Amino acid sequence: MAKILSKRQSGQFVVPGNRLGVIEEFTPGQGTYVERGEIYAEITGHTLLDMQNKTVSVYPLVRVVRVPKVGSIVTGQVSKLQNKTAIIRIFKIGEEQLSGVFSGLLYISDVSASYVDSIYDACKPGDIIRAKVISEKNRIYHLSTADKGLGVLYAFCSHCGHMLKQKRYKIFCPECGRFEKRRVAVDFKETVS
Ligand SMILES: [Zn+2]
Repeated sequence: MAKILSKRQSGQFVVPGNRLGVIEEFTPGQGTYVERGEIYAEITGHTLLDMQNKTVSVYPLVRVVRVPKVGSIVTGQVSKLQNKTAIIRIFKIGEEQLSGVFSGLLYISDVSASYVDSIYDACKPGDIIRAKVISEKNRIYHLSTADKGLGVLYAFCSHCGHMLKQKRYKIFCPECGRFEKRRVAVDFKETVS
């Protein structure tokens, strides 16, 4: 059953299929549709009742711009490595794709709970990595991959660029046969048995 608007006022939050009224009382406006004489919301948004013109419309919900926060699980692409730091272009918070671009820094000391020799053993440019935001200052996000669910999800051969696969604990290139090192997540995407 479609929800019936309880109050006849503007600004009510509606989702597609919510009943807004009948055509005898309102003219269907933007963001609505009519079925058997009844007006429904076609989009997610807020109602706008124009009592003067007897029109009901739905104004689309403005997407809230999301930014990573301390504790957010983010996904990004390694853009470069320098010294003991990987620079990551964050494009996702949780499951939500971001329109803006945020930069994350992964220091070697935050790669793993155990000691890591070189940042080059953790990830390489082009890799897709999942990390947790551990601190934020001036929109620079410091990341960690020390938890089990974090780390590289997709990796590419630094010699020929092919997608690397994982077999047991080894990461290798099926194209050129090269073995590489990565700090992989438990759900590394190209795992073969
Ligand atoms: Zn290769």
